[in-house]
Amino acid sequence: MIDQRSQAIEIEALDKWYGHFQVLRNIDLNVTQGERIVVCGPSGSGKSTLIRCVNRLEEHQRGSIRVNGIVLNDSVKNLDAIRREVGMVFQHFNLFPHLTVKENCALPQILSRQKKRADAEALAMHFLEKVRIPEQADKYPGQLSGGQQQRVAIARALCMTPKIMLFDEPTSALDPEMVKEVLDTMVALAEEGMTMIVVTHEMGFARKVADRVVFMEAGEIVEANDPETFFNAPDSARTRNFLSNIM
Ligand code: ADP
Ligand code: MG
Repeated sequence: MIDQRSQAIEIEALDKWYGHFQVLRNIDLNVTQGERIVVCGPSGSGKSTLIRCVNRLEEHQRGSIRVNGIVLNDSVKNLDAIRREVGMVFQHFNLFPHLTVKENCALPQILSRQKKRADAEALAMHFLEKVRIPEQADKYPGQLSGGQQQRVAIARALCMTPKIMLFDEPTSALDPEMVKEVLDTMVALAEEGMTMIVVTHEMGFARKVADRVVFMEAGEIVEANDPETFFNAPDSARTRNFLSNIM
């Protein structure tokens, strides 16, 4: 029997359309507390849409999503509760350019968690230390490298004390020499037991960190397997074909 309380994310029979175009088809995916999922697949296969549905940056039309037992539906109360549990990091950082690094991390806490400024700034510094850029706190995003900006984005998300972190191709906009510093930050987070869904084509990261690797194509989950099986003996010829093209 599955202990429902150990489920962080439960996605069942999820369908989504953009207008007449069906972007997600009958997606089933359960993520347990502390589990690390890597999602890969060709461009346009629906990876971003899938993880954006989890905190309702996109709305689904059929099927169900639960986050830590809370049903994602039209209830604003439920959505607020879910957004408290879920942090998200995007490909293009999405930092506020006119705010310092520290303010980027502190302001969301002040605005949506009613934190006192001093407390918000203290937590901001805590997580900036964690992602190893406390010395950048008073700079503006534009003065930082891409890798540093992405680490700020991770710190900012962590400042909201999420239980689940969603990453949408967090390293694909970075110059190659900056990929490792961001992946190292994510590995550290994984080692602390954070529940994570990471959309990425960094297969080294997947091998090292993932409990399961999910391959999507044309809006469907084609395969979901432990990394050992996924990379060495995938079930599907479509997975094999994808892997041979990217590795
Ligand atoms: P991936 O992240 O795997 O590249 P996406 O989830 O971004 O895929 O997109 C899946 C498909 O949905 C693509 O064909 C894309 O063009 C389409 N799509 C994405 N966002 C929208 C949107 N807001 N409106 C219409 N079509 C969209
Ligand atoms: Mg995408």
